[in-house]
Parts: sequence; structure tokens; C-alpha cells
Amino acid sequence: MAKKKKKRKSKRPYKSTVYGAIVNKIRLMFLFSPNRKEALERAKIFEDYQLKSGVVKQRCIGYMCERCGCICAVGKEVNVHHIMPVGGLQNYPTLDAYIDAMLCEPDNLKVLCLECHALTHAELKGEKIYEESDSSN
Ligand SMILES: [Zn+2]
Repeated sequence: MAKKKKKRKSKRPYKSTVYGAIVNKIRLMFLFSPNRKEALERAKIFEDYQLKSGVVKQRCIGYMCERCGCICAVGKEVNVHHIMPVGGLQNYPTLDAYIDAMLCEPDNLKVLCLECHALTHAELKGEKIYEESDSSN
């Protein structure tokens, strides 16, 4: 059984436990939540483009990081950060409380580039707001 500890980092941050399955499911719920979508909508950057007919239209070219202001181009990864840290499931008295924290209001969400998200979490860890923290909060 000692063999199991090989590299399977990015795809499955948690071991195959009931706890992990629940957390992953809730994260998936967040990924497709309307509130997350609304936060992304807020960060969208548009540019004008002209059709052959002369009509000017707009298209989304990416998302602006709400920390450094860089533009994450469409198709590139962008993170949606919880301003009020979610932390682990073990910090909550009930599953519903955890779900509420994860699927929070758009005001509690911030669109960040990968660098700023990592930096923000490093700062939070420094302040020791939560003992355990994970990358996609
Ligand atoms: Zn940034």
C-alpha cells in the first residue's frame, strides 16, 4: 500500500475518501454557480471590432484581474477567489454551512490571475486565518 503516494497532485487534490468526494462535488457546484459566473461577468473586458458591413460589434477578449489589473485572455485560466476564506469542511458545523460559504454571494468573490491568487493565499496563510487552506478558494 506504500506505493499509493505517487504523483497525482493537480487532478485530485484529495484522497479517495467520502470527505474528498463531498468536497470535490461542492467545488464543482461552485465552478458552475451563477454567483461565480456573475463575478466573472463583472471582470470581462471587451473590445470593439468592425464587420465588413461597417457595423461595430463587441467581443470579450478576457478577464481583468481585480488585484493587479492584468488581462487573462479568453481560454487562459482565471481564478475566482473567496474574499472571506472558505477553508476546509472540518471548520464548519454542518455541510450546509460549508456549502453556503463556498457558494457565496458575488460580492464575496474576486476574479484573480493565477499569480495574484497564489499570492493572496500565501498572504492569508501568513496571517494564519485558517490552519488548512487549499488552492482554489
Ligand atoms: Zn493579478
